[in-house]
Amino acid sequence: MTKTTTRKLRPATNLVHAGTLRSGFGETSEALFLTQGFVYPSAEAAEARFKGEEPGFIYSRYANPTTDMFEKRMCALEGAEDARATASGMAAVAAAIICQVKAGDHVLAARAMFGSCRYIIETLLPRYGVDFTLIDGSKIENWQKAVRPNTKVLFLESPTNPTLEVIDIAAVAKVANSVGAKLIVDNVFATPLFQKPLELGAHIVIYSTTKHIDGHGRCLGGIILSDKQWIDENLHEYFRHTGPGLSPFNSWVMLKGLETLTVRVQQQTANAAKIADFLADHPAVTKVLYPGRADHPQADIVAKQMSGGSTLIAFEVKGGKKATFDVENALEIIQISNNLGDSKSLITHPTTTTHKNLTDEARAELGISDGLLRLSVGLEDVNDLIEDLDTALKAAR
Ligand SMILES: *Cc1c(COP(=O)(O)O)cnc(C)c1O
Repeated sequence: MTKTTTRKLRPATNLVHAGTLRSGFGETSEALFLTQGFVYPSAEAAEARFKGEEPGFIYSRYANPTTDMFEKRMCALEGAEDARATASGMAAVAAAIICQVKAGDHVLAARAMFGSCRYIIETLLPRYGVDFTLIDGSKIENWQKAVRPNTKVLFLESPTNPTLEVIDIAAVAKVANSVGAKLIVDNVFATPLFQKPLELGAHIVIYSTTKHIDGHGRCLGGIILSDKQWIDENLHEYFRHTGPGLSPFNSWVMLKGLETLTVRVQQQTANAAKIADFLADHPAVTKVLYPGRADHPQADIVAKQMSGGSTLIAFEVKGGKKATFDVENALEIIQISNNLGDSKSLITHPTTTTHKNLTDEARAELGISDGLLRLSVGLEDVNDLIEDLDTALKAAR
């Protein structure tokens, strides 16, 4: 038997212990249940389990003990009643939206979002008769004006990728409630440590756990968290029958990632804050966007809804695309990659990589200039990172 507590625990403790299921062997580390199915002691037991009269696992497309531990630990961290882990962040976004809309419904979203989310809303949903509106989400009036009686879902990401714009989650949740719609928040950039969308009034939170939650660049994963009623009524059957679930192996990797999430994200954020200040003072840099700085365009909303800055920095260098390429190529420690939240520092040029599919006008609307770079700060010594950036920025001039 394992020791248990009924005390309300703080995040760092929950990240190490919450949701643990121990097998009869009493293993310390969470077991990896790499199994598709489960055996029953009798035909009667199988019948009872399928009827839902007896607890237990049936098939790993529905639920698996290792994945269950990951979901429960995320629920404890997020303050959510229930969750479903998915094979990627995009599987989470797609399932969270599609499971609750039908032809004739309307989806309202902030246009500053991950490119694949735009594909789901702008290209996929209209094929099935679901209408959409994309707005500049930073102004609350835009949400109020665009919401309709048939709006079922409001969707936003905050801070946004790649310009780190911040949206007032509590205010948008009120707009959703005014028409009985559900607000989904993509909370990847804030991490579950620095922003709690459910406490701010959002109904559903999603993550790409590929990012900070794995944190070591190994596995893709995602998760949808909400109240039990929404999951039972909308997601439960959809999830069982369409099969977007996270594999037990990847769930196990994510569980181990969660154990060190607090220390990693705190250190990466401390590194990022120092680097943001260094970049802001650098003569080759024309603009720095960082949610932890007083000069962030929505610093008031950051103060209201976030308890920490970010592990990401967006900055603009003088000289446009050529200069950004020179900087990227001159970096020796910071690697060129479109991933983020990794223990390794990674840099990307959104115009030619993550946001290349947008039109020039759409990029301009989002503030993605040719000189913009997005830096995901890792766990290296911050002085080595600053020296690397300093040398590369000099080389580019
Ligand atoms: C990466 C990312 C996604 C997609 O996640 P995958 O795990 O790559 O499918 C969605 N939203 C945001 C904000 C992301 O950074």
